Amino acid sequence: MNVLILGGGQLARMLILAAAPLGIRCQVVDPAAESCAADLAPWHRMAWDEVLVRRDLLDWADVITYESESVPCALLTALATQHKVAPSAEALQLSGDRWHEKQWLSRLGVPVAPHRCIDSLADLQAATAELGFPCFLKWRQQGYDGKGQWRLNAHSDLASIWQAAQQRPSILEAGIAFTREVSLIASRRAGGELVCYPLTENRHQQGILIHSRPLADDPLQAAAEAHARRLMQAVDYVGTLAIEFFVVDEQLMANEVAPRVHNSGHWTIEGAETSQFANHLRAICDWPLGSTRLLAPTLMLNLIGQWPSEALTLAERGAHLHLYGKAPRPGRKVGHLTLRARSEGELMSHWLRLQPLLPRSEQPSSSE
Ligand code: ATP
Ligand code: MG
Repeated sequence: MNVLILGGGQLARMLILAAAPLGIRCQVVDPAAESCAADLAPWHRMAWDEVLVRRDLLDWADVITYESESVPCALLTALATQHKVAPSAEALQLSGDRWHEKQWLSRLGVPVAPHRCIDSLADLQAATAELGFPCFLKWRQQGYDGKGQWRLNAHSDLASIWQAAQQRPSILEAGIAFTREVSLIASRRAGGELVCYPLTENRHQQGILIHSRPLADDPLQAAAEAHARRLMQAVDYVGTLAIEFFVVDEQLMANEVAPRVHNSGHWTIEGAETSQFANHLRAICDWPLGSTRLLAPTLMLNLIGQWPSEALTLAERGAHLHLYGKAPRPGRKVGHLTLRARSEGELMSHWLRLQPLLPRSEQPSSSE
């Protein structure tokens, strides 16, 4: 099988790594000046629209997939007239715009935070009067890792934040006093075969994911799976998808949907029987999906801005280091570290010993 991946970041890199043992060949398209997937597969730097005239690439590909929400929906729609594209343009269109996403979730009965559509300062004033403070202004499109969103604490913030947001089409969301954040990763194949991973608890700092921890037997697992099934069936989704949730009063409230493999699923590489990357490829190639069983207590730590000494990190048994080949830069995800252990206690010992080496020192959440 030949897979053309639109987007050349670390998600593409890890898809390529998962593709190799399955005999799948990959090529990557990305207009950016650099691609950290380029070490592993041919990278074609071109404007998105140019893909449409690259007959060589399109004829080569058995299936086209994407790893970034910045791929234009119109490109996917145009490609899908003659090629197999998975997940579909519709999935990206619904989740790539926070307003459409909220409507989609609400229509299917998945609870979301109270929110309003914002096109002007007057809209923002009216919406904050209704939703109160704190609240979050988020661009409808193109935000990630906390970029393109602002927390508003008081009326005096409105004008300056509306300027900072460049007056772009946005939504305002009520601030949610969640007890924890979790995500569900699921993979679905055409025809309906669907597998879900154990719910994962996530901790963010300044809008950036810092660590993820799969939870065996979380009481909200069945509810999260029901939401994923409904969303995926509604658009005949093919591939891997992630839903981020806030947990409020022990109930799930969806924050956002990512129509792709997801950072909170990186632990699946060592922690699950089949990784989210392998299952994405199996789904888009229309092959049977693999078991999502959690193999052992696992914790994934993002490496943000810089990475620790390879030699010191790898001296810790149970530590699996993934570096993305990116230059260090503040706030940038340059790699991740997955810790796997025989028991929760051993996992925490690994973590405590590694902590002094890591760029930051926050404690993992939940029951350690
Ligand atoms: P990513 O791409 O990393 O998932 P993002 O830029 O798309 O992030 P969100 O997922 O919307 O942004 O928000 C990032 C984090 O900010 C959330 O995981 C949560 O911790 C916090 N946050 C966002 N919206 C709210 C809200 N309405 N109430 C409380 N906290 C929020
Ligand atoms: Mg998010």
